[in-house]
Amino acid sequence: MTNSRITAAQNQEIEDARSMTSVTRRTTVPAMEDLMYTMIPVLDHGYLRVIDYMGDDSAVIQAARTSYGRGTKHKQNDEGLIRYLLRHWHTTPFEMLEIKIAVKMPIITARQWIRHRHASVNELSARYSILDREFYVPDAKDLAAQSQTNKQGRGDLLTGEEATRVLDLLRDDANRNYDHYAWMLNEDQQGKIIDPNRKGLSRELARMNLTLATYTTWYWKVNVHGLMNFLRLRADHHAQYEIRVYAEVLLDIMRQWLPMTHNAFMDYRVNAISLSAQQIEAINMRLAGRDITPQNTSLTKREFDEMVASMPGLIKQA
Ligand SMILES: Cc1cc2nc3c(=O)[nH]c(=O)nc-3n(C[C@H](O)[C@H](O)[C@H](O)COP(=O)(O)OP(=O)(O)OC[C@H]3O[C@@H](n4cnc5c(N)ncnc54)[C@H](O)[C@@H]3O)c2cc1C
Repeated sequence: MTNSRITAAQNQEIEDARSMTSVTRRTTVPAMEDLMYTMIPVLDHGYLRVIDYMGDDSAVIQAARTSYGRGTKHKQNDEGLIRYLLRHWHTTPFEMLEIKIAVKMPIITARQWIRHRHASVNELSARYSILDREFYVPDAKDLAAQSQTNKQGRGDLLTGEEATRVLDLLRDDANRNYDHYAWMLNEDQQGKIIDPNRKGLSRELARMNLTLATYTTWYWKVNVHGLMNFLRLRADHHAQYEIRVYAEVLLDIMRQWLPMTHNAFMDYRVNAISLSAQQIEAINMRLAGRDITPQNTSLTKREFDEMVASMPGLIKQA
């Protein structure tokens, strides 16, 4: 399937890669074999593709038991061990499994993604290549105002003329900057010289004029311990939408790849909370039958509210 996110030549490379198979003694996961190389669209021009992976749930068991062979016993025992490992933060067995993906994302997303240091990255070089005229422009449903309660968050949606004007500005500024980038390079997207009488600025300098909405592409390889750290922070509702949508795709890939690890991860990390000593004290007060408020516990209002948001049953309904 050709798509505006990739060229016909890139699409052919994907088809060629998918047509090749090999016999192996390594563990394979049918769902991942189906997925390999295919493009999963994200945002308006981005994508995520699985390039390679190593191991399955049994590789966690194999490492934890330091086995001679495959390492698995019975499904129930294996699942129990994976849950025990995650529950007790025994994380090194998960570092024996790896995934390599190709991601195309806006530079604003890449800036956040690169903060996750426990991974290997190889990014498309804009010193070497001319970047495509592709910018992220949010969908109208994601065009939100600054949140009044969270300085790092979004509030109500922009509507009407203001929304139209913002979208026009985002598109126009990105296009205008790209026009200037091309003019300074004195080359078009295919590398053809625009004006033979000009020298043209180097690619490494001209790129500084592009907006952060410009798309970049990289290969990202991470072990499952690092992947879970990334997903816990970036698939969370506090994460910015433009990285969260990629994290949600990865979380779904993990579900298909490592069903046991995924379930344990959801139970012990994503849908779990950790409690401070003061919160435990407050819960014990509540269990002893007393009402709790920020005033009669050692909790700040913020910590109190965070606890009640996770466990609304702790306070009496009015
Ligand atoms: C909602 C949200 C808001 C954020 N806001 C900001 C912000 O305003 N400004 C900002 O700068 N960043 C911000 N960040 C980025 C954040 O501070 C982390 O840099 C990012 O999430 C990567 O997390 P990490 O360091 O755990 O990951 P990794 O770099 O992958 O590290 C994984 C783990 O390895 C260990 N580790 C890695 N390096 C070291 C080290 N040098 N020393 C000790 N242990 C190490 C730690 O246990 C770490 O948790 C934000 C992140 C989120 C999710």
